[in-house]
Amino acid sequence: MDFSYTPEQEAFRMEVRRWLADNLPPELCIDDPVDDWVPRNHEIFEKRRAWQAQMYTAGWVGIGWPRELGGRGASLIEQVIFNEEYGRARAPILPGYSGISMCGPTIAQAGSDAQRRRFLKRILSGEDIWCQGLSEPGAGSDLAAIASRAEDRGDYFLLNGQKIWTSAAQYADWMYLLARTDPNAPKHLGISYLLLDMKSKGVEVRPLVTASGHHHFNQVFFEDVQVSKENLVGPKNQGWKVAMTTLSYERGATGGGYDSQIRGLVDLAQRHQIDGRPAWQQDWVRQRIAQLAMESKAAKYTRLRSLTRQLKGQPPGPEGSMLKLFGSELGVRIGFFASEMLGPYAQVAQPMPVLEDAPRWHNRVINSRQYTIAGGTSEIQRNIIGERTLKLPK
Ligand SMILES: Cc1cc2nc3c(=O)[nH]c(=O)nc-3n(C[C@H](O)[C@H](O)[C@H](O)COP(=O)(O)OP(=O)(O)OC[C@H]3O[C@@H](n4cnc5c(N)ncnc54)[C@H](O)[C@@H]3O)c2cc1C
Repeated sequence: MDFSYTPEQEAFRMEVRRWLADNLPPELCIDDPVDDWVPRNHEIFEKRRAWQAQMYTAGWVGIGWPRELGGRGASLIEQVIFNEEYGRARAPILPGYSGISMCGPTIAQAGSDAQRRRFLKRILSGEDIWCQGLSEPGAGSDLAAIASRAEDRGDYFLLNGQKIWTSAAQYADWMYLLARTDPNAPKHLGISYLLLDMKSKGVEVRPLVTASGHHHFNQVFFEDVQVSKENLVGPKNQGWKVAMTTLSYERGATGGGYDSQIRGLVDLAQRHQIDGRPAWQQDWVRQRIAQLAMESKAAKYTRLRSLTRQLKGQPPGPEGSMLKLFGSELGVRIGFFASEMLGPYAQVAQPMPVLEDAPRWHNRVINSRQYTIAGGTSEIQRNIIGERTLKLPK
């Protein structure tokens, strides 16, 4: 592994840093982007959408996309540098995240020319915001068990069924989804990948509020919704293959950001009092933070090892599942430790004179568990590591 950057890469880092310093409105900065990636209300959503449009105009959205599709054609290393600087500036996750990182690349790879022309630019600019309609009440880890039906009616599909845990559907203009188009085919066949205009007649979005009081996700119901055949991605009944493309981008998008949380913990320990003195003066506090810092570094170097493989053009190793498992569980350990240090204050979701940033820590504690579920649960990652890496019997 080579940890140094070339002078060109350092210059690129400075260019990103300067642009963010000059343009990012301070009111949009957040302490923990991962805990707040779905905007809390429409006002925040619109501000973040305007921010995405501003970034797009300056050429900073989807920088890894090829130039002919509206991106910057940035190298992998440049994307890593960009993400580091973006996190360092405490900039918010863009509202168009799902389209930029998952659906857009899928349309680019598996969509028709007409779909590429119609959707890709608008995904980058934030004119269209997308949500992901994969999970259903009976289909999560076992995604191929989806039951939503899309009946072929000539020019269109007639869609009926339900999605669940749909993050940010309340803001979305479009949804990419899987529906069953041949109920008699074996489970992984007979599924199609469709693009749905959320304003279509028969689509109903109902909120699901998390334990932290945040309207993060939704249930989405379809009742006799007409989806034009133009919005089928890939061949009919072969949506499973297309969905695997989307999910490969989702796995690539998870992980990271733990160093800044550890820095937050150190700062908290220096301010928060336990038994009349700063928590930082307690041995057990410093030891636990040191342990978490080591784990964060281990995750970082595993991520870099994975990056090195990609840069050498080698096939992906087991790092993807290891990082997803280790990173999300580390997030839980950080949240758990924050709650131990804060005691009853961890339960307060309002700023207090003794703890101005109480809501941040309350969120961290309550929300950390969700990342061990989203994008593939910890148990599923353990199965993958056991079966594919350790070659354990099924
Ligand atoms: C914050 C968050 C955001 C999300 N956003 C979206 C979204 O935008 N769009 C979307 O479509 N979905 C979204 N999801 C849903 C997510 O993809 C599913 O929750 C996830 O795939 C797990 O599916 P499930 O909830 O149906 O649980 P299940 O699959 O029913 O699993 C229940 C339990 O059984 C365990 N289990 C299941 N199968 C096995 C097995 N083979 N071996 C061992 N253990 C097993 C699981 O690990 C889990 O503990 C989101 C989830 C979260 C938490």
